[in-house]
Amino acid sequence: MELGANILGANKRIADDNHAHLKSHGIRSFDFVGSIGSGKTLIIEKMIEALKAGGKRVGCIAGDVAGDDDYKRFVKRGAVAENVNTGKECHLDAHMVDHALEHLKLDEMDVLFIENVGNLVCPGDFPLGADKRVVVISVTEGDDMVRKHPLIFTIADLIVINKIDLAGAVDVDPQILVRDARNLNSRAPVILTDAKHGSGMDELKQALGF
Ligand code: MG
Repeated sequence: MELGANILGANKRIADDNHAHLKSHGIRSFDFVGSIGSGKTLIIEKMIEALKAGGKRVGCIAGDVAGDDDYKRFVKRGAVAENVNTGKECHLDAHMVDHALEHLKLDEMDVLFIENVGNLVCPGDFPLGADKRVVVISVTEGDDMVRKHPLIFTIADLIVINKIDLAGAVDVDPQILVRDARNLNSRAPVILTDAKHGSGMDELKQALGF
């Protein structure tokens, strides 16, 4: 118990340092958390394109247990990126992000997207120092996903429900997810998206403050 508190306390201190570090370079930062296959990577790719079109310089940290698939996708879209493999860990922590920031040219970046490891539980305890935490789920995961993971939705700054184009096919009413999210968190905007075909993406960009 004590060890757990120490680890979380140390993570929080590094997260605060990361935040100050990013702010000192004028960078706006977002930690994307969500289940595996919810569409985090595609949403970030679409945001990279939209922000680049508006003249913003975008950086990404791709967090995954293994591999560099998402990292390559970000680079292909024109972002400066750093890959972080967590090995056995089911979340990024602030120290991993601190280390990744050392490899990125922060003076050449306006926005940083961090894609956390696909998981709706573990990342909840580990703030990274980003301005906002964005939680992404998709309708294909079922209409009980919000209720089953209350902590992550309670601490979210923005909630995205993706793949709404598939709602009928999987017999899920997105409004149930919206209702559950609002019950847990009345502060965070809830945005319905179909990242693949583009619907809701302008709204999401606006909600991110662009
Ligand atoms: Mg991904």
